[in-house]
Amino acid sequence: MSTPRFKPEDFEIYDMHAHIFPHKISEKATESIGKFYDITMHFDIGETERLLAAEAAIGTKRTLVCSVATTAKQVVSINDFIKAECDAHPEFIGFAALNAKYDDIPGEVDRIIKMGFRGVKLHADFQREPIDSRDSYKIYEAIEGRLPVLHHMGDYRHDFSHPTMLKKVMRDFPKLKVLASHLGGFGAWDEAEAVLEAGENIRFDTSSAVCLMSPERAVRLIRHYGVESCMFGTDFPMWDPKKEADRLLSLGFTEDEYRRMFSLNAKEFLGL
Ligand SMILES: [Zn+2]
Repeated sequence: MSTPRFKPEDFEIYDMHAHIFPHKISEKATESIGKFYDITMHFDIGETERLLAAEAAIGTKRTLVCSVATTAKQVVSINDFIKAECDAHPEFIGFAALNAKYDDIPGEVDRIIKMGFRGVKLHADFQREPIDSRDSYKIYEAIEGRLPVLHHMGDYRHDFSHPTMLKKVMRDFPKLKVLASHLGGFGAWDEAEAVLEAGENIRFDTSSAVCLMSPERAVRLIRHYGVESCMFGTDFPMWDPKKEADRLLSLGFTEDEYRRMFSLNAKEFLGL
């Protein structure tokens, strides 16, 4: 990696992908993500205070926070938790949890919109629910044109969130806005590059992607989608915001391009 010309402090920063968990389950939840991905988590506990401290190290202005409802019965309590954290920390941008097996999806969508959520987070691989399943479509039917979805994308072991499936979803829901995580496909970047292109309704985050590929590959993939369609994300507590910001800054993009990826794209995408 070349020496970065810029420092995180040179930019307004929006972290478009972070996870927080209620105190009671935080340690266990963080550990189980580490096990799922066979990855050593940078932070052993995904808690608000840790997140705030880690983001403060790079002067982050706003952080998108979410949590995954692995089962339908967690949906309401997670959303109440994220909402309370957002009320306590105005720098948070709350994305709600949904689960395709939840029995009143339209009702919960109405509720989270009233609560002020800016989007919904889905994780097909944790939820073991294909993103193009009949039940997943019930979620898109309820939120299309209303809230964007932050989709976990890709897994090298299973096909719940394969890039080709997202392409089909985007065709079937022309008003659905998607932020496709991990540059379109964690562990499935060849497939993502082959089938996904940026567009009016689909953008990408850099979390758990740039750190897992060579700098040359990261630049190529970001250029493939376009810098105007890629947003900085950390996947906290998996990775450290400071290291991730420095890593992105080592890739040799221009000041304007970094401004886009660190904040402008996020503000445009969320209408902030
Ligand atoms: Zn995530």
